[in-house]
Amino acid sequence: METIVLRTKTIAIIGGGISGIVTCKESLATGVLLPTVFEKSEGFGGIWNIDTRFGRTWNSVKTNVSKYTCMFSDFPHGSYIKEGQDFLDTDQVHQYLKEYIDHFKLLDHFKFQKMVTSARYSDGKWCVTYSNLKTDESKIENFDYLIVATGIHTIPSKEELKGVDLETFKKQGGQIIHSSMYKSPLQFKDNRVMVVGNSNSGCDIVNDFCKINHSFIYHYFKRPYWVIPRYFSVGKILPLDIVIFNRSSQAKTMARSTLERNQFLNGFLASQIPLQEQLEPVRISKDQHNDYHPVCVCDGYLENLRDSKFKSISKVDDNLQQIITNENIDTIIMANGFYCDLSYLSSYFPTVELQARMITMIFAGQLPYPTEQEMKRGLKEEEDIRYSIPKKISPHNDFVDFSDGIARVIGALPDMRELELSNPELYNEIYMMPFHPASYRLVGSHSNPEQSTKIIKQFLSDIYSRQ
Ligand SMILES: Cc1cc2nc3c(=O)[nH]c(=O)nc-3n(C[C@H](O)[C@H](O)[C@H](O)COP(=O)(O)OP(=O)(O)OC[C@H]3O[C@@H](n4cnc5c(N)ncnc54)[C@H](O)[C@@H]3O)c2cc1C
Repeated sequence: METIVLRTKTIAIIGGGISGIVTCKESLATGVLLPTVFEKSEGFGGIWNIDTRFGRTWNSVKTNVSKYTCMFSDFPHGSYIKEGQDFLDTDQVHQYLKEYIDHFKLLDHFKFQKMVTSARYSDGKWCVTYSNLKTDESKIENFDYLIVATGIHTIPSKEELKGVDLETFKKQGGQIIHSSMYKSPLQFKDNRVMVVGNSNSGCDIVNDFCKINHSFIYHYFKRPYWVIPRYFSVGKILPLDIVIFNRSSQAKTMARSTLERNQFLNGFLASQIPLQEQLEPVRISKDQHNDYHPVCVCDGYLENLRDSKFKSISKVDDNLQQIITNENIDTIIMANGFYCDLSYLSSYFPTVELQARMITMIFAGQLPYPTEQEMKRGLKEEEDIRYSIPKKISPHNDFVDFSDGIARVIGALPDMRELELSNPELYNEIYMMPFHPASYRLVGSHSNPEQSTKIIKQFLSDIYSRQ
């Protein structure tokens, strides 16, 4: 007999990307909340839906962390992943989300082509105004709770380039586009292109042009980043996230001072990427190892630079205008990131999922609200991270530690000391060995220890059977 669940509270979720999808699922899991997801585009998936007008990735984008990190804790990937494949392409991420939505029966809760234009709190209700993008009609609905899941890759950063008069550049026929509008190098076949910025998008786009042997491509950036490959060699060849995301080694890292942490990380990366130390202007020399250097994930970029498939310059604000003129640049692709507001802390799948579990449990009355002081402190910490210079590519690089912190609050993290004594095998698997999101379903509400243990054992056997 089917149980009838009485959902007593309504929740509006703005945005149908990864964050909105998992928040919808976790709202239903509380048994209390009835979710409505407002999505302005025609489909779900957010940046991973390249078919929609608002999709922010391009055809050749591959995830920069492996399939083991690009998944939620209770839903493994399906048969669309090819044997031996670790990193997903855009369509595969979208397929994963489709199967997740089907499995948890979420689609009926979505309202597509509905753009939220305002949300006001009054008399204990959120008054949400949204526009039907098909008919241009505007409507208002009231909800008990509101979640803003509009993504941190939605609003492009300001179009500016120190020392360059961009208005005159445009008046003279030059075009400027943001990386979020980029789809393929074929769009710019005969152009003389300058890509600005060296985070993941900037380096990926430069690489994309190199693949078609584009005749002229210039890469300009302010400071060198470590350009790391998707695989590290640590006795075995493993996806980078499998090497870095590990509870015991992250605990050691967190115990180090900032200086020691920088020295350790820079030393490790230098040993993994010797080519970078030989190439100007991306070189990060030993005497710079005391400082923090951002990281971007991009295979083949350094080899393309070594083989002169593109030109690269750094820190030339003063004569950038001259270079643009002398080199007859006619297209500038601004890969200068996005305006970071305080919507969902989009990071990797498992962290977003934990945040969704926490907030929906709070709204459902299954977890106490944080105090006002705790909220203010959290907001301040988050703002400091988001507006730090150099800007972080992903707000939370301390991924495992940050995620474990949330898991601890919602009761989804096993007590490691207790586990070490009671179940040394499982302790070894989830503390000493590489991290897997399924470890967040071993204990607590909505846990499924049997399924989680199976997923973790399969994952470790896959990793350790590799050469
Ligand atoms: C090029 C690129 C590569 C990346 N690679 C990875 C990776 O390998 N692994 C990884 O984990 N993360 C990666 N990310 C990070 C990525 O942000 C997350 O994976 C994830 O997509 C964030 O999901 P989200 O739902 O928070 O935001 P989004 O995917 O941006 O979704 C937000 C949704 O909100 C909708 N929306 C916005 N405003 C409104 C409104 N007013 N009304 C209604 N709907 C609205 C948008 O249409 C969109 O569908 C990458 C990001 C980029 C840009």
